[in-house]
Amino acid sequence: MSGKARWWRGNLHTHSFWSDGRAFPEEAIEWYRAHGYNFLGLSDHNVFQDNPDRWIAETGRESYFAEYLSAFPDAETRQTPAGGREARLRTFNELATRFNAPDRFLLLPAFEETRSAEYADGHRSELHMNAVNIPALLPSIAAPDFQRVERDIPLADFLARHAAETAALARSMGRHGLFMLNHPIWTWYDISPEVLVETPDVRFFEVCNNGSPFAPAPGLPDDGFDTDRFWDVVNAFRARRGLPLLYGVGGDDTHVYRGEPHDGMLMPGNAWTLVRAETLSADAIIEAMEAGDFVACEGIEPEDVTFDRSTGTLSVAVAAKAGAARTIRFIVSKRDFSETPVKTLTARPAEKADMPRFERTFRIYDEKIGLVAKTVEGIPGEALCASYTMADDDLYVRARIEEPGEPLCTAALHPQHRFVAWTQPYRR
Ligand SMILES: [Zn+2]
Ligand SMILES: [Zn+2]
Repeated sequence: MSGKARWWRGNLHTHSFWSDGRAFPEEAIEWYRAHGYNFLGLSDHNVFQDNPDRWIAETGRESYFAEYLSAFPDAETRQTPAGGREARLRTFNELATRFNAPDRFLLLPAFEETRSAEYADGHRSELHMNAVNIPALLPSIAAPDFQRVERDIPLADFLARHAAETAALARSMGRHGLFMLNHPIWTWYDISPEVLVETPDVRFFEVCNNGSPFAPAPGLPDDGFDTDRFWDVVNAFRARRGLPLLYGVGGDDTHVYRGEPHDGMLMPGNAWTLVRAETLSADAIIEAMEAGDFVACEGIEPEDVTFDRSTGTLSVAVAAKAGAARTIRFIVSKRDFSETPVKTLTARPAEKADMPRFERTFRIYDEKIGLVAKTVEGIPGEALCASYTMADDDLYVRARIEEPGEPLCTAALHPQHRFVAWTQPYRR
């Protein structure tokens, strides 16, 4: 990469009052802008923020209105015929005009395609996917006969259809779009890694989704089936088949901004995506992500990541932090892994009143998938640099930076360390 490239910090998964987030869009954006983020995708469910006449009522949101009107006195409000008050939600264009600043902050158009598939046996899978840098809603979702729930469709077909429709929409608008699968292993979001092997057009997924600690519930097998395992299964199979590797994104999936109780959701700022690009533009950010030149971060970020393709050497550097002991692990999958699972686990997550739970099946493969090839322990308080050169039988290598402690996100399928950062997988 060029010497002029630098890291830009962003979050591609955020909600506002345009859907089920608990903040006006200006408040959501201002939180990230004020905390040093460089880009943000405001990704509301099944809506793109382009309706200039969308109003929301104050009733039930009195405290939100009070804070919003004091922070943004130019907000538009009006009286309703019933005597209440409502406020107009700012559109994407209004928000971008207000907040975008060259080389400092960029608001990216985004929406979260929110669908589910139900099957004859009563089982249901939720599929949430973010479309980024596309300033229009997916035609099938915008259609008047849109149904959130689809019946009896193979999940891989359902996912591939959304990826294709999103790519076509981006093309038709002359935009460089990005499509990603969100939180694939939420408890009742029954997507197996094998689905991602069948859908190689899906290039990105959330290896870390921090806004949803409520989702993975107790009752799942405690057998290491976390998003790291999920990711390595996908990439071991994809690499063997010569398919594009799946890249991992970190995101807040922010719904709450004031710490109010809401299913235990976390405040913003825990998980982000660090992208290396020369300029802060949508095209530059997405091109860098497509090249795998980014890191998914939860509470920690590297100073540098380099991959020397000629030698197959991945190097990672982390800056010193007082008292903190970091570990860098290099993770590979071996060319001769077995495609036959060593075991199949089933589990039924604990029931929750408003969310149906279904039995889930996990295939556990041999240890040649997601093998830790090298571990480098840092000295507390000192910077840490480590590198690993791929062996001939490594399909790819990726690195994981860890800092021990109570996890930020305590859900069963989330990181077991306080802070974690994931580089992308690289191959020669
Ligand atoms: Zn979602
Ligand atoms: Zn979301």
